[in-house]
Amino acid sequence: MTDPNQRFAELAGLCWHEQVDNQTLKCKHCGQSMLFQWQGNPDFTDAREVLKVMRVRENWIEFSEHLFPGTDPQTEIEAACYYILDTTGKLRDAAIEWMEEKR
Ligand SMILES: [Zn+2]
Repeated sequence: MTDPNQRFAELAGLCWHEQVDNQTLKCKHCGQSMLFQWQGNPDFTDAREVLKVMRVRENWIEFSEHLFPGTDPQTEIEAACYYILDTTGKLRDAAIEWMEEKR
């Protein structure tokens, strides 16, 4: 199974680096190779990292409406807290599911 952080990066069109040999990493997204000195692939288990990516996409409003369907303020704030206070990947997984449906 694909790493969900990698899947999110793929769907969102972000760089994701994989080791090619013990000296080199290659980006699966842009094809760039680099020497084996890096900060690691991004971790999207924290909702804030997902928000940084999703809120600059052109369909951000659509995604936020999907997450927080405007029913009443109480329901909406509950939904917002459920996702935004989460650090276990709930928002990342919701974004993956939504982006897969949109393809
Ligand atoms: Zn890249």
